[in-house]
Amino acid sequence: MYKIDKNVYAYRCPKCGQLHYPAPMRCKKCGYRRYPEQEIEPNFQKEGYKPWEKTPLKGSCKLLTYTRLWNLPIGFDQRYLDFGLVEFENGIRASGRLLVDKPKIGMKLNVRVEKIKEFYGKVCYGLQFVKP
Ligand SMILES: [Zn+2]
Repeated sequence: MYKIDKNVYAYRCPKCGQLHYPAPMRCKKCGYRRYPEQEIEPNFQKEGYKPWEKTPLKGSCKLLTYTRLWNLPIGFDQRYLDFGLVEFENGIRASGRLLVDKPKIGMKLNVRVEKIKEFYGKVCYGLQFVKP
């Protein structure tokens, strides 16, 4: 049975330690290559290759900005949704659903991963930002 991993990950470069989100093909600081195969092929090996470390995006973050989206694409059964851009304590920035009544720029939020939409029976998960 396929198990859903309800985490969203940042990726740390094994060569210089730079943290990335979303996962890059190369480190933006030192250029070290990432092979996504390392995650799906259990026997993946490449001489001299150090795998990238995955760190779940979790804990508290700060709201940088937000907007309200109308006319949502297919798969959303609601009139509008609030969309926010946040910064985590480790400096990573991410966007996602904002579930706060009266958002204020700079407010502290917590992150969770939940169902975002359903499309032809397929459930899509994503980041949600809520009050701590
Ligand atoms: Zn690097």
